[in-house]
Amino acid sequence: MRIRSLTPITVTYPLGREPMSFCFVRVETDTGLVGYGEACDSYGCSYAGVLAEVISQVYAPLLLEQELVAVGPLADRLRLSTRRRLGDQWIAVQARSAVEIALWDLVAQQAGRSVSALLGQVRERVEVYASSTFLDEGPAQFHADLLAPLLERGVRLAKVRVGPEWQQDLRTLRDLRALLPEDVELMVDGSETFTLPTAIEVAARLGELGVRWFEEPIPQGNRAAIATLSARSAVPIAYGEHLYGREDVLDALNNGGIQVLQPDVSISGGIAESQLIANLASYYGARVVPHVCAGPVSLAANLALAATVHAIRAIEYPLSLIPAWDALGVGAPLGPDAIEGGSIAIPSGPGLGVRLAEDVAAEHPYRAPGARVAGTVGGLPDRFVGDR
Ligand SMILES: [Mg+2]
Repeated sequence: MRIRSLTPITVTYPLGREPMSFCFVRVETDTGLVGYGEACDSYGCSYAGVLAEVISQVYAPLLLEQELVAVGPLADRLRLSTRRRLGDQWIAVQARSAVEIALWDLVAQQAGRSVSALLGQVRERVEVYASSTFLDEGPAQFHADLLAPLLERGVRLAKVRVGPEWQQDLRTLRDLRALLPEDVELMVDGSETFTLPTAIEVAARLGELGVRWFEEPIPQGNRAAIATLSARSAVPIAYGEHLYGREDVLDALNNGGIQVLQPDVSISGGIAESQLIANLASYYGARVVPHVCAGPVSLAANLALAATVHAIRAIEYPLSLIPAWDALGVGAPLGPDAIEGGSIAIPSGPGLGVRLAEDVAAEHPYRAPGARVAGTVGGLPDRFVGDR
């Protein structure tokens, strides 16, 4: 089959906290098959329109009329054609990830199999961790109430976010710990907020609370500082949602001392590249827990990753995105009703088992964020500028 068209579809969908944007790609073949992919912009609400331009201007011309038999050669063609012009990180890789996912969707559909089955499925279900919000958004009871519906479905892993007002956040975290059942494990995300001295102090306090990982405490490019923190922290240090491909991951593992790797197929170069880096990380003794923070196609593709890598025992499940998965996804159920005993079923339908609801997408056209900064209060980037 040959690739006939490659079209980005951008969406801004209203969610409770703030509107979130999404960048999907629709790839059609001369046999009439339609595959979907999705890029993640690491928070899902910033520059989907920029990702779409990369897909249209850069990747579509390289793939149109190409024969699609195996994904690898075409994904390599995209990477090798653009590496010295667009680079091997950030937007170029996120956009390429979306295309790679859509190609897997098509190849698996053509084979009449799920992507997971085609790649070698090692599990039918995977544990999810509830990925919740910033601690400064409410008292401990507010956070316990947010987590309750998933805890009722058997989920026993939960993550909250700490920000610049970290002393108050840690008081809230201590209260939350006391409210939750003892067998619920807590993780904390620092959203690249902290300086090294503060990160060391926060990590020590998290250790006292038995927190299972401290995610992105320091800006991800500061590998030397991350290595220092990692050596001094009793809590494992997690990175990955801003790591792009094998070179980046190897550098982070060799020089950053990270102990939890969080690849995302919608960021890291696609499904095959994420399998590779997940296996690399496990050879380093790191825990591998995929990052998820985009729409239903991205979640389905990350579930395919989790389905095919032995080392992956759990996957992120962001509470704030559930309404967007319900609205924009067609196929395998992805909402809380699909979770039983704390785990979600890997989609088993042909391809990814989930496709984009294009009619719903069309009702929610993309709006560029302008000056709005995702995940901040009042549109100011105070949360991400470092501690005092
Ligand atoms: Mg994170």
